[in-house]
Amino acid sequence: MIEVLQNIQAEFPVSGMACAACAATVESSLGTVHGVNRASVNFASRTVLVEYDKNLTNETELQNAVRSFGYDLILDSDENNDVEKLQMEEINKLQRNVLGSFIFSVPVFITSMFFHPNEYLNWIMMALTLAVLVVFGQTFFKVAFQQARHGRANMDTLVALSTGFSFLFSVFITIFPEWMVKNGMMPHTYFESAAIIISFILTGRLLEARSRSKTTTALKSLMGLQPKTVTLVNGNEETIIDLRVAKVKMCFRVKPGEKVPLDGKIISGDSFIDESTITGEPVPVHKQIDDKVFAGTLNQNGSFVFEATSVGSETVLGQIIKSVKQAQGSKAPVQHLADKIAGIFVPVVMVIAVSCFILWISIGGMEHFSHAVISMVTVLVIACPCALGLATPTAIMVGVGKGAQNGILIRDAKCLEKAQKISVVAFDKTGTITEGKIHVKEIFWDSNKVTNEFKNAFFSLESKSEHPLAKALVAFLKENGFSGIKITDFQNYPGEGTSALEGSSKVFAGSSAFMEFHGLSISEIVKENADRLKKDGCTLVYFGSGSVVMGVAGLTDTLKQNTAEIISLLKEKGIKTVLLTGDNKEAAMLMAKRAGIEMVAAGLLPSQKADYIKQLKVSGEITAMVGDGVNDSPALAEADVSIAMGKGSDIAIDVADITLVHSDPKKVVQAIMLSHFTMNAVKQNLFWAFVYNVIGIPVAAGILYPVWGYMLDPMIAGAAMALSSVSVVTNSLRLRYVKI
Ligand code: ADP
Ligand code: MG
Repeated sequence: MIEVLQNIQAEFPVSGMACAACAATVESSLGTVHGVNRASVNFASRTVLVEYDKNLTNETELQNAVRSFGYDLILDSDENNDVEKLQMEEINKLQRNVLGSFIFSVPVFITSMFFHPNEYLNWIMMALTLAVLVVFGQTFFKVAFQQARHGRANMDTLVALSTGFSFLFSVFITIFPEWMVKNGMMPHTYFESAAIIISFILTGRLLEARSRSKTTTALKSLMGLQPKTVTLVNGNEETIIDLRVAKVKMCFRVKPGEKVPLDGKIISGDSFIDESTITGEPVPVHKQIDDKVFAGTLNQNGSFVFEATSVGSETVLGQIIKSVKQAQGSKAPVQHLADKIAGIFVPVVMVIAVSCFILWISIGGMEHFSHAVISMVTVLVIACPCALGLATPTAIMVGVGKGAQNGILIRDAKCLEKAQKISVVAFDKTGTITEGKIHVKEIFWDSNKVTNEFKNAFFSLESKSEHPLAKALVAFLKENGFSGIKITDFQNYPGEGTSALEGSSKVFAGSSAFMEFHGLSISEIVKENADRLKKDGCTLVYFGSGSVVMGVAGLTDTLKQNTAEIISLLKEKGIKTVLLTGDNKEAAMLMAKRAGIEMVAAGLLPSQKADYIKQLKVSGEITAMVGDGVNDSPALAEADVSIAMGKGSDIAIDVADITLVHSDPKKVVQAIMLSHFTMNAVKQNLFWAFVYNVIGIPVAAGILYPVWGYMLDPMIAGAAMALSSVSVVTNSLRLRYVKI
């Protein structure tokens, strides 16, 4: 039997990850499972995306692999599969631990600061500190132990080692104070450091977890657009059921003020529906029998029943949610360096800490034993791979979420990173910078040649095409009393035209190049009229049969209202613009002039649009192509960043790097701005995370001691470490408020 590869991708929440080193551990633990192709952890959302072969492994095996390292993979079959719920649980647990650990640490701190140390107090402080370590800071030690069993170390290892050391050292001093005195040191204990460090780090984790949960608010608000229950209609009976059990073909009632729960088609009743969440159009649309309705849109005051055509992740809203989730979980190229560093960070820090200890003793002698221990502890505490791990993903999550809220769907972090470098934006014409509401100005028929039969064949031909020009022509001909006749062998040539057979003669509709290519001759009279229409800036469609052109239509389109403003905004940012179109030069020039676009390339076939983009790339430009995704697909594929216009509910999210749900060209500028802001936040985060460690570790090691006699207090190191990751997340959250 031939085994068919069955790769599936699944996302699971992971619990217990404390830092970016954990993320690397989880990735590699899954990577060793036979059948797993790829595992990618999103540290900010605490999830992992696993691509695995269903024939070779299963979810339980994945879970076991992760569990053996002390983390847990939450499977769908488990009850608590909700990421949000996990987040809340994590926050609640941290809250309890923070509170408890402060209640026990503060007395230790006060005692050590304000009371003269004596043996009895030392024993009391020891007991209180032990409670902090064992009860509230338990996870640090547990995880460190599990990691150590696999010969690994992470953030928790650093905390466990540092607090463990200061505790044991203090216990030693408590039991053998005379040893310290003999070696010329004060018998001073460091219980307060151990206790306070745990309290501070727990506080940092709590603040970080709270902020991190805010990075997904955009996604949560999208998911909030789906109601939890639906009213199922079965004959005359109406029952309320859980949305998750709803299926295609079932019928549901939507009452006034309710959200439409699924995509479907109205079968009775009518109403006005606010579809702004999907189309961006603020004016409610009137919908009646046979009209499509979409999940997440808001019913106004009517009531109707609809039949579901797609449910769950198949709905337009579901697709948007899925794409946002995927993008938020993807890794930006800049993160790879940070990941690499985070992966070796902990062992490197441990080596530095030990060298520091040895150096202090070998230079300073035994009377500096306390300094040696404290500097080692401080180095372990202050080092923070956490901030490095959070720097990129938190900003990406907020950036992608903000995009989604503004109708800009970004495929992945890579696209978001690239968009800030765009130097040329190429626009398609029809439907991109123009409204696509095409008006037929005139159809000139060569009355010597044309017959009514041909006109009807032409009508049929265009009614089979999806092209906006064809649609406008069909509407126009219908108004003028034409009706279709039978045609066969319909063929569509994107960017050129269409052809079919009417009886035994071939009929054509398309551009002049298309006519020439098929050997049709254009008579003087048609040419004259075509020139006249062209001078008025009309787009031309020729029609012919056999080997003669029998007429020409002149069509006009209007520029989208804000196009000129957008082009000048792009120019201000030093970004060049170009119009790429299959339309004739005159019509293209006219639109380009009105819009303020500098470069025009007209009469292009879809493949030539792609060639043009390639040329731009060769000359060193970073290109973006904005198009409608259907006949522009070669050019979109060629561009560095492809931007597809969504046309309301017909969005095909997978075609482009960036999908503009509302078809508004202004979003092109916003997407570029968003990319700038997000990548700036990433750079700031990475910079501070690096600088923090580069400065913090040497100071903790005591580099300032020979000069100023300054030793960093381990408690301050604990506070600094807690703040470093909080500040990174806060900086990312700032993105929510920037104006794009
Ligand atoms: P754009 O680049 O503006 O989107 P297209 O590449 O879609 O334009 O089309 C280029 C030209 O090809 C049109 O101006 C028209 O003359 C002709 N054409 C393409 N498709 C059709 C069609 N279905 N019916 C008639 N003409 C068509
Ligand atoms: Mg087009």
